[in-house]
Amino acid sequence: MFTYKNWIFDLDGTLTVAIHDFDAIRDDLGIPQGKRILEAISEMPSDQAQLLHQRLDEIEMELASHTKPQDGAMELLSHLHKNGTNLGILTRNNKKNAQKTLFNCGFSDFFEAEHILGRESVTPKPDPDGVHQLLELWGASPNETVMVGDHPMDMEAGLQAGTSTIFINPKGENLKHEKPDLLIKSLGELLMLF
Ligand SMILES: [Mg+2]
Repeated sequence: MFTYKNWIFDLDGTLTVAIHDFDAIRDDLGIPQGKRILEAISEMPSDQAQLLHQRLDEIEMELASHTKPQDGAMELLSHLHKNGTNLGILTRNNKKNAQKTLFNCGFSDFFEAEHILGRESVTPKPDPDGVHQLLELWGASPNETVMVGDHPMDMEAGLQAGTSTIFINPKGENLKHEKPDLLIKSLGELLMLF
């Protein structure tokens, strides 16, 4: 069913079991509930922003040591990798934490370092900047590419860059806006469609 040559994945909650409690992180950082964390920090004076980035990096590094792979992720990535598919990670986490998470889950061999894009090198999702950067690195076009994620921001980034989109929602709840090309409840369900 799938003919995409390029697969771009969100990391936390998509390839891994979601463990980030973003409300608790907001409390820790003193960011009002309901605000996007990275965007709220970026609006602060630079010395305060730098401190909060350091703290956020610490929190996420601690979380990275507890992450577990999502059921089906290993099979999915192995299958795609074996078939020579381009694989990328686009995360709002930082690259170091993303690499640690990938290592802990046994996924390191599937992703080349330059294809793991974190918040220090791209404008964070929902901005499509990271998708554009990966497509440029691969010399690829959006119509042979799919963005996979568990958050509306992942879908928005893909849609804005013109890729196909696959939305993972364990409850099977679709989005009101930014409707994905495919809605699945789990990576296991996705695997069955190959
Ligand atoms: Mg996610």
